[in-house]
Formats: sequence, structure tokens, C-alpha cells
Amino acid sequence: MTPFERPDRCCPKCSHKGYMFRARKSVEVPEGKFVETKYRCRSCSHEWRERIPAPPESKGAEDAA
Ligand SMILES: [Zn+2]
Repeated sequence: MTPFERPDRCCPKCSHKGYMFRARKSVEVPEGKFVETKYRCRSCSHEWRERIPAPPESKGAEDAA
């Protein structure tokens, strides 16, 4: 059991759980790099974005110190 996991993303407006993936882009702000993903609700057509920290880029993928 993983009580903290919430795989079911839902619409922030109507809480409907059906959504469509719209777009994804990376953004750079002073705080760092983020990946912004855009979703669209299947029920009310509301669109929203979610920003998550971008994974570290292929920097020293092997051990290039
Ligand atoms: Zn909705």
C-alpha cells in the first residue's frame, strides 16, 4: 500500500479523472529547469499545466569528472 501515491490525476476544475495529454515543454526559470505538461479535461475542456522539476540532463552520464 502506498498512501501517498496519487496516480489518478484529475481535473482541478471539475475533478473528472479523464484527461488528454496536450503538450509538454521544458521551461527555464531562475529556480531551475522544469518540464511543463499541459492537460485537457475530457469532461469540461478545462486546460491546466503541471510543472515538475526536469530530470538532470545528460551531464556526466558516464563519469566524466
Ligand atoms: Zn474538468
